[in-house]
Amino acid sequence: MTANNNIPFLDLVTPHKELRAELREVFEKTLDTAGFIGGPMVQGFEQDFAKFCEAEHCIGVGSGTDALRFALIAVGVGAGDAVVTVPNTFIATTEAISQAGAGIVFVDIDEATYNLDPKRLREYIETACDFDANTGTLVDRKTGARVKAVIPVHLYGQMADMDAIMELAEKYNLIVIEDACQAHGAEYFSRKQNRWCKAGSMGRVSAFSFYPGKNLGACGEAGAITTNDAELAQKMRMLRDHGQAQKYYHDIEGYNGRLDSLQAGMLRVKLKHLAEWTELRRAAAGRYRELFSEEAGAIQPYEPEWSRAVYHLYVVRVENRDELMKQLASVGIGTGIHYPIPLHLQKAYGSLGYKSGDLPVAELVSREIVSLPMFPQLRADQQERVVSEVANFTSTAKVG
Ligand SMILES: *Cc1c(COP(=O)(O)O)cnc(C)c1O
Repeated sequence: MTANNNIPFLDLVTPHKELRAELREVFEKTLDTAGFIGGPMVQGFEQDFAKFCEAEHCIGVGSGTDALRFALIAVGVGAGDAVVTVPNTFIATTEAISQAGAGIVFVDIDEATYNLDPKRLREYIETACDFDANTGTLVDRKTGARVKAVIPVHLYGQMADMDAIMELAEKYNLIVIEDACQAHGAEYFSRKQNRWCKAGSMGRVSAFSFYPGKNLGACGEAGAITTNDAELAQKMRMLRDHGQAQKYYHDIEGYNGRLDSLQAGMLRVKLKHLAEWTELRRAAAGRYRELFSEEAGAIQPYEPEWSRAVYHLYVVRVENRDELMKQLASVGIGTGIHYPIPLHLQKAYGSLGYKSGDLPVAELVSREIVSLPMFPQLRADQQERVVSEVANFTSTAKVG
C-alpha cells in the first residue's frame, strides 16, 4: 500500500492550501495593525456568525469549553444546582457544568439518533424529581439539587429533537443550552414553529467550538456563544473579558476567554465556504448510504425527516468494531471512535456513583460505533474503497 493510497479520517491540509492567499492576508493585516485582541476582525466575525446561525447575538470566546462554561454561568447556574445532559458527548460538556459549580445528571440517548432521548428526560423529571409549580422549582430527590438547565448535544452534526425537549423545559422551568459544538449550520424542522430552525437559534444560549477539526475550524483554539437575549449577551461579553465592560472597571469576576483577532479573521474567511462544505459533506453522506445499501452488516446514521444534519462525523455501527478498525488501519483507512467510554463510566466521574448498566443505550452504542472518513474533499472513489473494505470485513466476520 503506497502512502498516497491512504484515506485519512480527516484532511485539514487541503482546505488550508485552497485558502492560503486569503488566510495569509488576514495574518499580514493582523501583524501590520498589531490588533491581536478584539477590534474589527472579532466584531466582523461575530456579526457574520450570528447571521449564519439566525441568532441575534454572537460572542466570540477562546474555545467551545469556554462557550459552555460562560453560558451556564450567565444563565445563573451555580452551586446547589444540577444540569441534565447525555453521557455520549465530549467531556467538555460536563466539565463546564462542574466548573460552573453545579452537579451533573445524565439521561440516556435515543438509539436511532444517538441524541438526548426526550422520553428519558421526561422519565427522569417525573420519577426522580419533585416539582413545585408555585416557585417553578425542580428538585432532584436524591441529591437535593435544583435542576436548572438541560444541555442537548447536537452530536455528529445532527440536532436533538428540540421541540420535545423545549416543551419539557417550558413545563418544568428548565433553561435549554444547546451544545452545538459539532453542528454549525445544522437545521431542525420545528413542528411547533412550522419552520426550519438553525442550530444555535433555539436554546436560551448555544455553544460552538471552532477547534480545527470541527466543520468550521480555526487555525488554533476558538469558540462562540449565540443567543437572542441581549442582557445575557452583555453578561457573557463581560465573563470572557475579566468581568469588565470598560478596561479596569470590573463589575464581576470573569475569565480570560476572548476570541483573538487572528482566529476571528481566519474564521471569517472560512465561514464564507461553510455552506458549500456542508453540501459536500451531505453529498458524501448520501453516497456512503447508497454504497452501503447494497451491503449488509453496518448500521447507517438515521436522519429523521425533521433534520438536516451537517455530518461532522459519519458514524456506523458494527459488532466487532475494534477488529474492523484494525483491519481498516492495515489497509490505510483512518477511523475514530466518538466516544469509546460514556462519561458516566469515566474515572473522572467515579464519584457520581453511576455504574455499568445505568444508561444502557449509550453503553451499547459506545461499543459498536466507528466514525468513517468524512470531510468535504473526500472523493467518491475513496468512499467506494472504504465501503468495500467494511463489507469485506462484515461478510467474513459473519461466516467466521
Ligand atoms: C469540541 C466539543 C466541545 C469543546 O470544544 P473545544 O473548542 O475543544 O473546547 C464541546 N462539546 C462537544 C460536543 C464538542 O464536540
